[in-house]
Amino acid sequence: MQNDIQEVLISEEEIQSKIKELGAQLSVKYEGKNPLVICVLKGAFIFMADLVKSITVPLELDFMAVSSYGVSTKSSGVVKIIKDLDASVEGRDVLIVEDIIDSGLTLTHLIELLKNRNANSVCVVTLFDKPARRTVNLEADYTGFTLPDAFVVGYGLDYAEHYRNLPYIGILKPEIYTS
Ligand code: 5GP
Ligand code: MG
Ligand code: MG
Repeated sequence: MQNDIQEVLISEEEIQSKIKELGAQLSVKYEGKNPLVICVLKGAFIFMADLVKSITVPLELDFMAVSSYGVSTKSSGVVKIIKDLDASVEGRDVLIVEDIIDSGLTLTHLIELLKNRNANSVCVVTLFDKPARRTVNLEADYTGFTLPDAFVVGYGLDYAEHYRNLPYIGILKPEIYTS
């Protein structure tokens, strides 16, 4: 698996230290509150697990899985809910935990959905951001790392469901896509 990586973009140490910073900032933001922290599956599962260990306020967790519709409807930002939340978000301070923001369409739809369900507040933390790829006007409230316009794997992110278990973020060798 490690042999398939052409270049490590962000090391395990850099990721872990950034997550501690984000956790400290979020602990201040949610002081005195009881946020509902939502993991967008599958990509954000490792980030979520590491992040909540660095947040010091009481919180609750929930999980959601979404998938984009086909290319033809993608521009509308419509996503299909594969797994919905277990509990209501009404009146809750919601923190959406995302792995990476690319076009921004998935997240735009998700924020709208949670606002329509009457969340008290909706905030987004993403570990990675590729702003060059954005097709909608959207920015996370908290961002770990800004990446160049390249397809990355590791730390929860997959190529054909593999490489999620790498502890760092890297770029695959070109031959992996062609083989
Ligand atoms: P978008 O922002 O375009 O709606 O979609 C973001 C989702 O596409 C991410 O949550 C992630 O699942 C996937 N994605 C975007 N960029 C990358 C990337 O560079 N590598 C991987 N593995 N997945 C990506
Ligand atoms: Mg995601
Ligand atoms: Mg994927």
